[in-house]
Amino acid sequence: MPVSFSDLQTAFSKLGLTKNLVIAHASLRAFGPIEGGAETMLNALLDSVRGIIMPAFTYKTMLNPEIGPPKNGITYGSETDLNKMAEAFHSDMPVDPTMGVLPEVLRKHPKAKRSSHPIQSFAGIRADAILNTQTIYNPLAPISALADQDGWVLLLGVDHRVNTSIHYAEKLGGRLQFIRWALLQDRVVECPGFPGDSEGFNAIAPALEKYTRRVEIGNALVQAVHLKSLIKVVVDQLKENPFALLCGRQDCERCTAVRWS
Ligand SMILES: [Zn+2]
Repeated sequence: MPVSFSDLQTAFSKLGLTKNLVIAHASLRAFGPIEGGAETMLNALLDSVRGIIMPAFTYKTMLNPEIGPPKNGITYGSETDLNKMAEAFHSDMPVDPTMGVLPEVLRKHPKAKRSSHPIQSFAGIRADAILNTQTIYNPLAPISALADQDGWVLLLGVDHRVNTSIHYAEKLGGRLQFIRWALLQDRVVECPGFPGDSEGFNAIAPALEKYTRRVEIGNALVQAVHLKSLIKVVVDQLKENPFALLCGRQDCERCTAVRWS
């Protein structure tokens, strides 16, 4: 049986978030067939929360220069071919396909707004004030604003490896941030505050247990995590162990840069 709008609505209502703003991350494939697909998912979410944002990142604007600052988790001059294919950011540039289909459906919704960061933009509905906080110097400011508004993180069939809010908490916890470069119509812009690698983020899950609400829908697990609590838990872990939540890959440039910082 495919998952229906009312299945989604019933399950989401158990999360008790009708008065809250959320940042959502989703893999629709995890749910199995959904009647009406991504549009149904988005409409059910809009029915169940006060407002929503999703990362609408655009990695194809990125350029890798020949030289740059050290300890930046990058091998300079290594992506000459990708540089040739880089596209200048524009406000209706599609969301990177690696983010899944839901953020692109959200971005194209008639009521959606999108922030203008050339790599790390967010799309949202009924969350304009949150989106407006983003700057080129503070790309994850919307996460901070969301936490101030008692927001929640919604993980829809995905785990903490896509949980962008953990990156914001890492920054607060003093973790090394990176610089990247993006192509605009008329110039290249330096983008500070680019986060580290997220492959090791699932290690945070046990510590978030008491701040997490769960429902199952179809084949998928949906988790809602209280954002302010998540940020505190991550900052506390980094205080205790500056290498917490790094991945185990020897060749991971960003985790290696953090270990040497
Ligand atoms: Zn790593």
